[in-house]
Amino acid sequence: MSGSVPPVLVVGAGVSGLTCAVSMQEAGYLTRIVTSARPAQTTSMMAAAVWTIPGTNPRSRSFEWALASRSVFEQLTRDPASGVSPLVQRELETTQPFRPLGWEGRFPWIRTLEANEVPPGYSGGWRIEGFLIDPTFYLPWLQARFERGGGTIEVGQLGSLDEARGQVVVNCSGLGARELCADQDLVPVRGQIVAVRAEGIREGISYEGNPERIRYVYPRRNEVILGGTREAGNDSPLPDPRTTERILRDCQTLVPELEKAVLVESRVGIRPGRPAVRLERDRLADGRLLIHNYGHGGQGFLLSWGCADEVVRLIQAAD
Ligand SMILES: Cc1cc2nc3c(=O)[nH]c(=O)nc-3n(C[C@H](O)[C@H](O)[C@H](O)COP(=O)(O)OP(=O)(O)OC[C@H]3O[C@@H](n4cnc5c(N)ncnc54)[C@H](O)[C@@H]3O)c2cc1C
Repeated sequence: MSGSVPPVLVVGAGVSGLTCAVSMQEAGYLTRIVTSARPAQTTSMMAAAVWTIPGTNPRSRSFEWALASRSVFEQLTRDPASGVSPLVQRELETTQPFRPLGWEGRFPWIRTLEANEVPPGYSGGWRIEGFLIDPTFYLPWLQARFERGGGTIEVGQLGSLDEARGQVVVNCSGLGARELCADQDLVPVRGQIVAVRAEGIREGISYEGNPERIRYVYPRRNEVILGGTREAGNDSPLPDPRTTERILRDCQTLVPELEKAVLVESRVGIRPGRPAVRLERDRLADGRLLIHNYGHGGQGFLLSWGCADEVVRLIQAAD
C-alpha cells in the first residue's frame, strides 16, 4: 500500500458501515465513521441476524457476497466474543408440490429435508448449516475492532453527502439514503421480533413463505428470538402487542418447547428495502469518490463482508 492512500469517511454505523470501516482500515486506509445513530440504535441492532439461504441464485452478485461473508463468519465462530456461532436450522415451505432450489447439491451446507424432518402443515424445506450473529455482541465487537485499529466514530446527521469530510466517502446510510440520495426505490420494511427465555432449544426453524405469517425461532446464547413480520411501507418503531401475541402463538405451534417461554421484550427494526442492493461508484459534486453500499433489505448481515470486500476493491481500483 502506498503512503498516499486517501482518508475514507464511512457514513453509517450499522452492520454495513462498521464492516466497511473495519475492512477499509485493515486494507490500510485511515478511516472514520460519521453516523446519526450509535450502533445500538440502528436497525442492525434489532435484526434476528442469521446467515441462511441467500435470497438469490448462485450466479448473482448477492450470492457471491453471501458466500464471502460465510467464510468470515465461519472464522469468527472461533472467537466467542464476536457473538457469531454455528446454527443448524430447518427452513420450511408450504408450496405444493415442494420444489427444490435446483442447486442444493453444489454446497455441503444445504440439503432438502427428509419427510420425517418436515412438521405437519408444511410441504418440505431445507436443512442449512449457517450462522447466528447476535448483534448485541457482534456490533460492539465490530466497533471495538475498528476503534482498536485507531478508528473514530463521530455522531452527527449529514444533510447531504457533499458535507461528508473525507477524500473518499462510503455511503452505508441504510434507509437514510432516501433523503441523502433522493432514492425513491428505498422502502421501509418493518420487522417485529420477540425475545423470550426458554430452555432446550438448540436448532433454528423458520417459515417465511407468507409475509403475513412469517415465523422463526433462533436460539441465542442468552435468549431465543421469535419472529416475525415483513411489513413493506410501514416504519412504525413501536412494537404492536397483537403482533407479539400472534408471533408467540405461531412459534409455539412450531416449537412446543416454547410453551413455557418467558417473554423478555418485543423489538422493532425497519429494514432498508430496495429491489436490489445499491453498491456502486459515484462522484460527489466536487469530484470526490463516493461509493454507495445500501439497500440490503432483510440480508444486511448475510451480505456484509462480501459487500465490504467489493467496496475496498472499488476504492483500490480508483487509487
Ligand atoms: C426483524 C429483523 C430481522 C432481520 N433478520 C436478518 C437476518 O436474519 N439476516 C440478515 O442478514 N439481515 C437481517 N435483517 C436485516 C438487517 O438488519 C439489515 O439489512 C441491516 O441492519 C442493514 O444494515 P445497514 O448498516 O445497511 O443499515 P442500518 O443498520 O439502518 O444503519 C444505517 C446507519 O446510517 C446512519 N445514517 C442514516 N442517515 C444518516 C445521515 N443523514 N447522516 C449520518 N448517518 C446517517 C444511521 O444512523 C445508521 O448508523 C433483519 C432486520 C430486521 C428488522
